[in-house]
Amino acid sequence: MAAARAGIGIDVGGTKIAAGVIGPDGTVGARSRRDTPAADADAIARTIAEVVEELDAPGAPVGVGAAGHVDLEGVVRTSPNVPGWVREPLQARLEQTLEGRPVVVANDADAAAWGEYRCGGAADVDGLVLLTVGTGVGGGVVIGDRLLRGADGGAGEVGHLIVDEGGPRCNCGNLGCLEAHASGTAIGRKARAAVAEGHVRSTSPLSGRAPGGAEVSRAALDGDPDAREIIAEAGRWLGVGLGALGNVLDPPVFVIGGGVMAAGELLLAPAREAMVERLLGRETRAVPPVRASALGSDAGMIGAGLLAGESTAPRVSADGAGGA
Ligand SMILES: [Zn+2]
Repeated sequence: MAAARAGIGIDVGGTKIAAGVIGPDGTVGARSRRDTPAADADAIARTIAEVVEELDAPGAPVGVGAAGHVDLEGVVRTSPNVPGWVREPLQARLEQTLEGRPVVVANDADAAAWGEYRCGGAADVDGLVLLTVGTGVGGGVVIGDRLLRGADGGAGEVGHLIVDEGGPRCNCGNLGCLEAHASGTAIGRKARAAVAEGHVRSTSPLSGRAPGGAEVSRAALDGDPDAREIIAEAGRWLGVGLGALGNVLDPPVFVIGGGVMAAGELLLAPAREAMVERLLGRETRAVPPVRASALGSDAGMIGAGLLAGESTAPRVSADGAGGA
């Protein structure tokens, strides 16, 4: 492997910018945090430059994980949560602003997958499929030590795997995406429907309320059987997605992150069961473990810093042992 160096990792989401100095082993040094001026691409680039200045790591390469479709040239084509980014040439712009520093811009979930792969929930194997189950369902794929980016940078959108043709409408416009069944948003929607239709016991903390996904998770963790059933249903849909992904990609491990993972095994146990039912050759094959994220909400920032540090590292080439 090439000798990596420290990089600055920056995770840009719809509401906040989280940044840190990331060592080659994924340790986080100094940190910085700002609100995202999401409506204004110029202001976002200025804020990123300020954060880089503040972190005071002279010359360190900069990796940005951006919430949106990031193409192979580091252009953010569109972003569902950052309206200011429309065909935003973020990488080229930052290279100009941060004179002399190498800059890598990737999709935020791809960056998170790389972080979990290098030093998180998949550090012991040579790949993973990451699913971040939060407001939406994002993800990234590393197979055989390579981040799968696809022909146009759009690979790894596991949340829009259609698991239920004709099912509920997804944010993307399609019907029955994994995100429309297993995200925190979907969990809240199902809970509100269950309350409205009288399927929730009067003793449930959900009763008489219009709960969101986080509230359902809390109630489930507190032992409420109705909330547990709603989380378990989301888990089963997650497992349908894992089964399909397992059959296509055969990853050594699945890592699950995002806010809904607060429910822990209440989500993962039904997901594993539904996945195994769908895996081809399940009697004779290696069944991929389904693990919780090890890096949590830092995964994107850490992965972005690692991508920057590794992509700019001098290659070890003399004996052919290098190559990242
Ligand atoms: Zn979708």
